[in-house]
Amino acid sequence: MTITNGALATPPATAVSMGLPRVPAVRNRLTDTPVTGGKRVLLAAPRGYCAGVDRAVIAVEKALDRFGAPVYVRKQIVHNIHVVSTLEKKGAIFVDEVGEVPEGSHIVFSAHGVSPAVVQGAADRNLEAIDATCPLVTKVHREAVRFSRDNFDILLIGHEGHEEVEGTMGHAPERTTLINSPADVAALQVRDPDNLVWLSQTTLSVDETMETVRLLRERFPNLHNPPSDDICYATQNRQVAIKKVAEEADLVIVVGSANSSNTVRLVDVALEHGAKAAYRVDYASEIRQEWLDGVATVGVTSGASVPEVLVQEVLDDLADAGYGDVSQVVTAEEDLMFSLPKELRKNADGEPDSRGLGGRTRRLDWQRS
Ligand code: SF4
Repeated sequence: MTITNGALATPPATAVSMGLPRVPAVRNRLTDTPVTGGKRVLLAAPRGYCAGVDRAVIAVEKALDRFGAPVYVRKQIVHNIHVVSTLEKKGAIFVDEVGEVPEGSHIVFSAHGVSPAVVQGAADRNLEAIDATCPLVTKVHREAVRFSRDNFDILLIGHEGHEEVEGTMGHAPERTTLINSPADVAALQVRDPDNLVWLSQTTLSVDETMETVRLLRERFPNLHNPPSDDICYATQNRQVAIKKVAEEADLVIVVGSANSSNTVRLVDVALEHGAKAAYRVDYASEIRQEWLDGVATVGVTSGASVPEVLVQEVLDDLADAGYGDVSQVVTAEEDLMFSLPKELRKNADGEPDSRGLGGRTRRLDWQRS
């Protein structure tokens, strides 16, 4: 673990960091009230944008540049209100289903992935599809297809109704049973207990998922594991970092949207690992003065779909309340990068665009300015 003391320099500009928040920042709302001991912020790292989110957001921006507005996007490209509202202002139109999109238009599939039925639906409407599914979600899709083909039944650990779960189940609909929580395990009926494999949504709590797997294995000792972790590196890294922060935090603030699974898990993990209180906010303006009563140490992190500008606003407001001493708690470096969706790897002139996307949290040297 590395702890760097000091304030943060302006973060590197991300694809949506320049847009105005939907809720304008209101400064000096919070007051500096005395507490016993010094006030400080522990800032978790890694936090914020993952490689899959970076890729998906840039895919929409590049599609708008290349094809002009509007570009349609099925579902929220990533689960963050600020990202979605910023892209809307640039000309993206978010829809629930491909049937809402005029024939012949461009449509981007979100980072959470889609089922083959959605791909077919887009083809039936002659839509020009750009697939921004995170490659780590695509990996789970491929596992589902392969295990299904090999006559396995799949126990998919995930949250009912989440877009990623719907997309993964759609790759092996006859073979997949959703396990929504550890409580589902007891009543589970299976076709053949020796031909079972568990897979998972990429953004779950690692600890809760392992508990579900333990219960499954108690019932089905021959249960197969996925070939590699389905819970992605970004989810795991952010949970490890907030665990470390939570051990010392009176209060943890998690920046991210309510429909972001990995964001909501960060609140749960903080509470389970020592934080006396933990709250999720989309914007700094949602921080309430009473949350800070008697609080010496505030932990701060953000979900994998959150632009760093929103964290900076939280730090600014906390500084107004006397929490200007910011130390970064670094538990991992991230350098994973993805290439653009294949439909966007060339520009209108046929020139290749082979930039690597993601890896923006590698900077361990941010210092106070
Ligand atoms: S949270 Fe993980 S699975 Fe989801 S987009 Fe980011 S890297 Fe991909």
